Amino acid sequence: MPLIVTGSVGIDTIHAPTGSAEGVLGGSTTYFAAAASFHAPVRVVAAAGGDWPDEHRKVLEGFEGVCLEGLQVRSESRTFAWGGRYHDNMNSRETLFTELGVLDEPGPPVPDAYRDSEFVFLANTHPAEQARLLDHFPERKLAVADTMDLWINIAHPELMTLLSKVDGVVMNDQEAEQLTEITNPISAARKILEMGPTFAVIKKGEHGCIFVHGDDVATLPAYPAEAHQVVDPTGAGDSFAGGMMGHIASVGMTDFFSIQTALAWGTVTASFAIESFSLDRLARLTRAEIDQRMSEFQAAARVG
Ligand code: AMP
Repeated sequence: MPLIVTGSVGIDTIHAPTGSAEGVLGGSTTYFAAAASFHAPVRVVAAAGGDWPDEHRKVLEGFEGVCLEGLQVRSESRTFAWGGRYHDNMNSRETLFTELGVLDEPGPPVPDAYRDSEFVFLANTHPAEQARLLDHFPERKLAVADTMDLWINIAHPELMTLLSKVDGVVMNDQEAEQLTEITNPISAARKILEMGPTFAVIKKGEHGCIFVHGDDVATLPAYPAEAHQVVDPTGAGDSFAGGMMGHIASVGMTDFFSIQTALAWGTVTASFAIESFSLDRLARLTRAEIDQRMSEFQAAARVG
């Protein structure tokens, strides 16, 4: 069932204890679409500038199942650019710079061929732009949004309006705390549900995630990655969401247990994204590798 995403296409500069990467392909939509494409076809609505390198487009085109008809390149504008530095333990990072470029301009048109999209993911971008995409799909089956510190800081009213319209949110524990001023992730999730969504997924990095859906709560561990497997955590959250929404779109079900299963697919898909800088590992990933790791993860996470 058709899945659509909007968010950023980015040019990233990353500094990590494992090395640095300058001017590489990044962006919330980019990671999401690449990860989702292993599970279901995905349609992209996003914009890049005239400085967007051709090699970046070729990488995205290499993912079978990613439709780029809704990717607009504006020759007079600049691509969103972001720099981040990871601290020694790779669990925390600081933003070095954010240049909004096209994200500060009106959003791109939504192609007519995308009108029957049923599953909508609003990856990180301005909440007003997320809401604009959402309004194109009044008949959707499921709409889920992500957000982050910048938007909580500079677009709080627009974010609150967006939250009142979506079915679910995916965010990390720091963002949930920033939004609710509650440290405990389950209590923070409950507060977020009061803002509108039916469910919230709170990611806790290497400690997995929790899922609060109405009165029900589920918890899931992270994939047990060893130190040498963690090269660059950038895009882990977007890849997690891509694997999760890709699975939901592939089964077409939105009940508690289907979403809980989707979280495991998201976890496993994201565990590959962090094995390299940019999308390098995702670009040579196969569905068979994901299936194999899913079996290992199920065995490792088994309880009772
Ligand atoms: P993640 O590591 O999953 O939080 O996502 C990192 C990606 O999000 C990077 O590739 C950035 O290009 C992109 N990004 C960083 N900040 C923002 C922002 N404020 N809005 C949209 N995308 C962003």
